Amino acid sequence: MLSGTKMQGLQVPKPQFPSLNSPQRASATNGTKQSRKVALTPGHSLMDWVRLGKKEGRNLNGKGGQIQNVSVEELARHNKVDDAWMSIRGKVYNVTPYMKFHPGGEDEMMRGAGADGTSLFDDVHQWVNVESMLEKCYVGQLRKSIEIKDRLKDNKKEINHPKDTAPVNSDFKTPSNSKSEAAIVEKPKARYDWYQNGGQITVTIYTKCNFVKADHLVIDKKQRELQVTLNIDEYVYTLHVGLFADITDTYNGIRVLNGPVHRVIFILNKKDVDLKWVTFGSPLEGNNTVVHKTDRDPVFRSCEVLSCQPLTHDIKLLALQLPQGSHMIIPIGYHVYLRVNHNGEELSRPYTVVSSTLLPQDYKAKEICGRIIYLMIKMYPNGHLTQQLAGYKEGDMIDVSDYEGSFVESRLDQADTLVLVAAGTGFTPMVKLLQWNRIHNKQQTKHIKLIFFNKTERDIPWREDLSELLKTQPKSFEIINILSEPDERWSGPKGRIRKEIVEEYFPCPDQPQQRFLMCICGPTQFTQLAFKLSKAYGYTDEMIHVFAA
Ligand code: NAP
Repeated sequence: MLSGTKMQGLQVPKPQFPSLNSPQRASATNGTKQSRKVALTPGHSLMDWVRLGKKEGRNLNGKGGQIQNVSVEELARHNKVDDAWMSIRGKVYNVTPYMKFHPGGEDEMMRGAGADGTSLFDDVHQWVNVESMLEKCYVGQLRKSIEIKDRLKDNKKEINHPKDTAPVNSDFKTPSNSKSEAAIVEKPKARYDWYQNGGQITVTIYTKCNFVKADHLVIDKKQRELQVTLNIDEYVYTLHVGLFADITDTYNGIRVLNGPVHRVIFILNKKDVDLKWVTFGSPLEGNNTVVHKTDRDPVFRSCEVLSCQPLTHDIKLLALQLPQGSHMIIPIGYHVYLRVNHNGEELSRPYTVVSSTLLPQDYKAKEICGRIIYLMIKMYPNGHLTQQLAGYKEGDMIDVSDYEGSFVESRLDQADTLVLVAAGTGFTPMVKLLQWNRIHNKQQTKHIKLIFFNKTERDIPWREDLSELLKTQPKSFEIINILSEPDERWSGPKGRIRKEIVEEYFPCPDQPQQRFLMCICGPTQFTQLAFKLSKAYGYTDEMIHVFAA
């Protein structure tokens, strides 16, 4: 039965990110340059801000929730304590309501008021997810204009830190981040069409955007309510209808035909193959609209735990089955949120999606593509969420969100050498990268080097599979395991990441004929250090992708 305007059980309030107990959030204050802290007045803690956001919602943007494009001139006008806007990565936020909640105080905030605050923000808070923190203050996209570059230059001058407070990683920015300050994405256009042929309905979404792939399409269906989302650039196109008649839970022929107008095609199967549909159905909320990713509440689906297998003494591989009627293939290095309810408290945390194995998958595994997701989860003794997850068993249900992420797969095509720098479960985004390499690098023309930091040998996940993989790609694949707490039998490299390790084991980037892509993931401070040391060794921003979900 249709729920009227919203798909029942799918729409939920957006979780906080980084989740309140996540290492990312913890590191926002201790992993990077310390901001000058001021005493916050009572009622202005982080939790108070989260609560206010829940209460006031989008109204916090001072425009009654309306979104508008903002010119540089308009941004500059909002430069007062009681009327302050700031642009971060091309998005403009009304930071006025946040002033009193800012641990660095009003003065710090005012340094970026009326201007582009990206560099300031990155200097102090690069690990904070600004979109989550300030999403309710979002005013709109900063409109590209010739003056932006000049303003950025000016801002850089203004924000030079005194030498004694120079941030450890002031230059830490992923390539995608560093470019986005001036890169304004035009809102792409999209629409859909359908036709029927006997028992099948073929739906085509036409879109004019920069780039679209089949795994940008997510389908959810409950009875006759069909919600299809297509990720197009920074936006999401939604098709949301109450179907004319029943369809089965399987979709075929999902494909993309690229051209000046991209066509994303999928086929629905009628339950009553003889029934001629008079219409496709009736439009539901948000149908045929394109909205910015940040303006969309995440959709959660209740997924069934298929298995929960130990990978190491404290890491488990969780297989989750999407509900009937849902189809979602997770792009490389993207994460989903798991959400559980524990004693009335909602716990939510992002996890990067992995594959079922590092080795070639069998036919059956291909069959279930888009229906099962695999997560590699470390069970921390004090982890609020993992303590709950540790008890999960086959048949239990858990909420899984849409995916998020920023890795662009085409970067892999452009690289000759992939350097994967992982620590602990920071290995998770590397899993699909290795899978991609196995499938697309059969001729072994690309070189791939995994530099894997763990505490002990028993902490290395999928160690045997990695050895097997090595045998299949002896010429092109290399693994360096580095242990910080090895036992006396270990003869390999030891210790934490440091200059000597980088210089000994990281490929030297000073090889003009080679195109490098380095991917880094691990505990926040590890990632920062790996980034900094790699830059010092000669890797450029453009060569590095940091997974920092
Ligand atoms: P871990 O076992 O605690 O550490 C793995 C290795 O990293 C150890 O050798 C450890 O050395 C080293 N290390 C830890 N902190 C370091 C630091 N500050 N400087 C240098 N080396 C350091 O790791 P884990 O418990 O699996 O944690 C993995 C982390 O990756 C989590 O924080 C998780 O949130 C993050 N992660 C992020 C993503 C993503 O953003 N997409 C995905 C997956 C995981 P010691 O033994 O000396 O500590």
